[in-house]
Amino acid sequence: MISQTLSANCPQPKIPSPLLFPCFPVYPTLPLDDIVYTTASRRYVCSVCGYVYDPDLGDSTQDVDPGTPFSELPVDWKCPRYRQGQDKFNPA
Ligand SMILES: [Zn+2]
Repeated sequence: MISQTLSANCPQPKIPSPLLFPCFPVYPTLPLDDIVYTTASRRYVCSVCGYVYDPDLGDSTQDVDPGTPFSELPVDWKCPRYRQGQDKFNPA
């Protein structure tokens, strides 16, 4: 939707020259990338024991690969210390 709006506001140049028509879609895409990055890399803290789930590290004890966002953990993933459910975790 966003890209469609942008291209509508950015008439196609008859002569494709970025110098004559500096209509780059770079600016609007930067915040989107930023949001995805911060959400995927957000740490979560267990409110019971203080264990921190770091997506960059994953959880080798439960076969969670590094780079797995908290939101994509297996539904049966639990806090590795006291086996608390994911509902006990809060964003760090
Ligand atoms: Zn815990």
